[in-house]
Amino acid sequence: MTPAELTELRRQLAEITDLQALGALMFWDQNTMMPPGGAAARADMADTLQRTLHARETAPELGRLLDALEPWAAGEDPDSDDVRLVHWARRDFEKSVRVPADLAAEITRAKAVGLQAWTEALAASDYSRFRDALARHVELRHAYIGCFEGHAHPYDVLLDDFEPGLTTAELRPMFAELREALVPLVAATGDPDQPRNDGVFGGPFAVDAQRAAVLELLDSVGYDPDHWRLDPSVHPFAQSLAPTDVRLTTKYDESDYAVALYSVLHEFGHGLYEASVDPALARTTLAEPVSLGVHESQSRLWENVVGRSRPFCAFLLPQLRRQFPGAFDALDTTSLYRAVNTVQPSLIRIEADETTYNLHIILRFELELALIEGTLEIDDVPDAWNDAVARLFGLEVPSDAEGVLQDTHWGGGLIGYFPTYTIGNLMASQLWERIEADVPDVWERIEAGDFAALREWLRVNIHRHGRKLYPRELLGRVTGEELRVEPFVTYLRAKLEDAGLLAPA
Ligand code: ZN
Repeated sequence: MTPAELTELRRQLAEITDLQALGALMFWDQNTMMPPGGAAARADMADTLQRTLHARETAPELGRLLDALEPWAAGEDPDSDDVRLVHWARRDFEKSVRVPADLAAEITRAKAVGLQAWTEALAASDYSRFRDALARHVELRHAYIGCFEGHAHPYDVLLDDFEPGLTTAELRPMFAELREALVPLVAATGDPDQPRNDGVFGGPFAVDAQRAAVLELLDSVGYDPDHWRLDPSVHPFAQSLAPTDVRLTTKYDESDYAVALYSVLHEFGHGLYEASVDPALARTTLAEPVSLGVHESQSRLWENVVGRSRPFCAFLLPQLRRQFPGAFDALDTTSLYRAVNTVQPSLIRIEADETTYNLHIILRFELELALIEGTLEIDDVPDAWNDAVARLFGLEVPSDAEGVLQDTHWGGGLIGYFPTYTIGNLMASQLWERIEADVPDVWERIEAGDFAALREWLRVNIHRHGRKLYPRELLGRVTGEELRVEPFVTYLRAKLEDAGLLAPA
């Protein structure tokens, strides 16, 4: 028997989900279609939507429904959709109501002010124009942390918004272990002066030809034109409005086809996750991906584990030769494979290769922790950044724009977000070990351009659960493990050795 309160809870959550999807639609439109002059009107709409949503999310009625349902849920199957729905609805509700309206409004305002200050500071490459906004963000993060109790470290509260259940105490030793493994690996394989991807994707390639090429690739891996779109944007992203409506974007650089190629594979991984959630969870809070780390494990699995593998290169090369006549004739599979795995210590995170990438995240994590712990002063952030770049990459930072100001995250007050990129990389390697065991011919299939078995494994083991399982539960049920560093490092070393970029140990 289903209590009447559950029907009512589902109705209210469906409306909240619809409002969130409208927000997603506005975000997608703003970044793909909206004329620049629409920005002011769009800000009004976004504000109204946000206030409407906040009122729904914090409605006392929602709290009363949850109070009434929790005793019932305690006697039901803890894995059932309904019990998990009540659990996550309670979690979301508490996160919303514990933050006073005044503070929530202050945080929203500081985000707008901070992003504006960051944009100007980046253009001028001058950190001093951003430091007040960053100081305000740190102050407000502490006020936000103060709304919650029961955490061992203040950073846990920030982390929990992006990676539910993961703690600073777990993350700190993992990131230290990863840093110890990566610094010498980068030193042994890296060359800051070589071109990215060994220069093999250098054009010029016409945008039309690139779009046709990535659509053909998407068609091979599992893009469904009845339910998906692909549009250009300044920063590639994936945004679904429902499992049946998935929007991908990419960026075309005429002088580097790898930008579109690998961003499309990355965003496809995000899109496939959102498209493959159990349809029974649609229009509930459970239809969302469970965390940014799990989301990123899916994008990086397609971009790096699959997309930079030798079998995928063997599959891709004939496509490339057909799509861009003459441009890839001199390459063979091994040279393509080697090229897409070259290691190039560099200053900019979003341009980093797979081997150096996580060092960029470790740097940000260490600075964020120090800022939250109060051991790093706001005025000392650029020096701390530059010191870390010298320590981790052996590079000198020539300007704030290429250093501390390069990412938008801190501009908007997002602290605790960066670690999820590395969590995704670690998780992807752990999942891949399981995939190889469960689908022993997965590499042969990939080389043959058959991605169906891989998609199905991901759907059954990861995607369909949506937000039902915590990241720890999800990973534990699939691999029997907690999050670990070692599989990623083993995977990376093996690949660099196989590609001839690292002498065998
Ligand atoms: Zn991503």
